[in-house]
Amino acid sequence: MSRKLKNYINGQWVESATSQYEDVYNPATEEVLCKVPLSTKEDLEQAVLAADTAFQTWSKVAVPRRARILFKFQQLLIQHKQELAELITKENGKALFESLGEVQRGIENVEFAAGAPSLMMGDSLSSIATDVEATNYKYPIGVIGGIAPFNFPMMVPCWMFPMAIALGNTFVLKPSEKTPLLAEKVVELFTEAGLPAGVLNIVYGAHDVVNGLLEHQKVKAISFVGSKPVGEYVYREGTKNLKRVQSLTGAKNHTIVLKDANQEEAVQNVISAAFGSAGERCMACAVLTVEDTIYDEFMEKLVKAAKAIKIGDGLDKDTFLGPVIRQENKDRTFRYIEQGVADGAKLTLDGRTGIPEKGYFVGPTIFENVTTDMTLWKEELFAPVLSVIRIKDVKEGVALANKSPFANGACLFTNNASAIRYFRENIDAGMLGVNLGVPAPMAFFAFSGYKDSFYGDLHCNGKDSVEFYTRRKVVTARYGENNI
Ligand code: NAD
Repeated sequence: MSRKLKNYINGQWVESATSQYEDVYNPATEEVLCKVPLSTKEDLEQAVLAADTAFQTWSKVAVPRRARILFKFQQLLIQHKQELAELITKENGKALFESLGEVQRGIENVEFAAGAPSLMMGDSLSSIATDVEATNYKYPIGVIGGIAPFNFPMMVPCWMFPMAIALGNTFVLKPSEKTPLLAEKVVELFTEAGLPAGVLNIVYGAHDVVNGLLEHQKVKAISFVGSKPVGEYVYREGTKNLKRVQSLTGAKNHTIVLKDANQEEAVQNVISAAFGSAGERCMACAVLTVEDTIYDEFMEKLVKAAKAIKIGDGLDKDTFLGPVIRQENKDRTFRYIEQGVADGAKLTLDGRTGIPEKGYFVGPTIFENVTTDMTLWKEELFAPVLSVIRIKDVKEGVALANKSPFANGACLFTNNASAIRYFRENIDAGMLGVNLGVPAPMAFFAFSGYKDSFYGDLHCNGKDSVEFYTRRKVVTARYGENNI
């Protein structure tokens, strides 16, 4: 009988009031790891009340004291790095080296948040009129709700709660019901670092908890990361209820390879960006456009490298490509492959073959002759499926990318400075890579997608996150010289 997870409310592990539990699988083995509660609005109410009560004291704790807890938390995360990475691989499926990378990105968010004393500084002008000065102070805003996707169970929550908490807010996190175990371990470590009860609460579940967060009057802001339809819903409902909302959503990222690129490096980067983490990354390369004059030569190298990819359980040290998250994601991907063939694309490498029998595996899949009217090009597949298109130059590559309704990432491989400038100035995407495949910015820069990849004003991470999780008071004060 597998273990039932409990919610973490006010510093205690509390059984949910629900009778509904979902199995959490290891997608490589199909083993049930635990059962996750689909918590009720009553469970959420307890968590929000705990967070609201904790806010009254936590928001008044001196900023350097809050930062010291973040420093201790960072140390504990470093000590537990291997254990955390193995847990990610077990519940998400990605290869262990990718999980170690994810833990590292999470740690970097904690490091950035530990700079709260500098980040929270306001500004002032000593003389705005005779004997009058103005000072801008930053304050936390209250209880924040965080809603996370399955694909980065550590990194994405770390985009949210460390900064929110370091700035004096309190937090209710709803992890993905598909990958709930990381949050359990991380909150244990944050508590060990000295975080007081009620500051970080975890409520497991699905749409009931999300709707509860969106409706609750005491929740002042919502950080959401997930798919476009859900993110759009969260943004509309959250703002309708007069909350601040940042909603980071789907993607369909293009990579352009030009004739003067270093082909070996471009191949390795595209392989990693298209098939790493089984394509379940919002920064994955989904569409590759290659300049006509090198197309055949480049594709030969790419297909050879894709065929050499080692598929298997992410815990095996040689594995590069683990499973997708669930059987239904595997089935959906197979349907996309059938649809691609029916639509007339050329299936150069078929990921439905050469895969382990057990587990939700899809092999690297490459389609050529893809056109923009095909489902393959239009939808976010979130799978190890790469669509390839022949282009005549950088302008055509940029024009194709700009037809996408998404604008998350885009990459260019070239050594031509003019092409790099053209790409930067003309492409519709918030995170650009030049001669690299996954241009996910580090914690101190905003994660800056737009169009259908983001709804809101202030993004996760960077200075945006400081603004998102604070409000201001500008004090204008007149001082006479009468009393001295
Ligand atoms: P998802 O939208 O299915 O789920 C995200 C969260 O929303 C989960 O916590 C889930 O429980 C909740 N949810 C799902 N359906 C809901 C509903 N009907 N009502 C209310 N809540 C609901 O996304 P996912 O499959 O977990 O994650 C993959 C998606 O996340 C991809 O689209 C990917 O591009 C996106 N993503 C985006 C970024 C980014 O920075 N833009 C980063 C990571 C992932």
